[in-house]
Amino acid sequence: MLAVSHVTKNYGKVTACDDVTFTLGDGEVTILLGPNGAGKSTIMKSIIGFLKYQGVISVDGIDNKTPEARRILGFVPEMPSLYPNLTVYEHMEFLARAYKLKGYKDRINELLDTFELTDKRKKFGDELSKGMQQKLNLCMGLLPQPKVLMLDEPMIGLDPAAIKALKDIIMRMHEEGRTLLISTHIIDSVDMLWDRTLIMQKGALKIDITKQQLDERGESLEDLFFEITGGQGE
Ligand code: ADP
Repeated sequence: MLAVSHVTKNYGKVTACDDVTFTLGDGEVTILLGPNGAGKSTIMKSIIGFLKYQGVISVDGIDNKTPEARRILGFVPEMPSLYPNLTVYEHMEFLARAYKLKGYKDRINELLDTFELTDKRKKFGDELSKGMQQKLNLCMGLLPQPKVLMLDEPMIGLDPAAIKALKDIIMRMHEEGRTLLISTHIIDSVDMLWDRTLIMQKGALKIDITKQQLDERGESLEDLFFEITGGQGE
């Protein structure tokens, strides 16, 4: 279980996350919705331990900043940060070695194949188009197969084939019982299997609702989103 308790993050005078509390059950797929600037990236970066914040975050009862928690948690950032001097394959191999993964070659080949990067395996990071960089970023996040994976705006910049491949992977990870937190500001991209939705606006968590609760209200996610946010961002 991932537990986020009273997390507040200020950037100077801007409160990017304001007393955010939620828990995600094991194996749940949760969609984190919110307009631009709502605090979605900030809460994910806090969970993965990239930021200092007030509050407590734990995964399986372990503080998120411990090495044990880091083995459970994975994160695909919105912006890829690639090494200009490493090839596509070397990025994957470097990560596999850092995580001490066993028998990783087949999995690397499978991921590169899924995201149509096989013929780009010898290209350097800075030779890739933006879309290809996004795909490599995803492949790197998916390689270690963490128990809890967070994807920050994963559909952005992907072509339709890659979006389909990603959705299939998300379904498979759900079947495997992994816990997923997926942020997006595009409600249309959420026509996939999900168990829970969190809606944030201006740093605050406005609603935490399960699929079943939404169905009982007889509303669409889009209706709920506009009812809660009025469509307004920062
Ligand atoms: P979202 O992911 O929902 O678009 P963010 O978490 O990126 O929102 O941003 C939340 C708020 O924090 C915004 O007002 C944004 O401008 C601000 N913010 C994010 N990162 C920084 C930063 N590094 N320095 C200053 N302000 C930031």
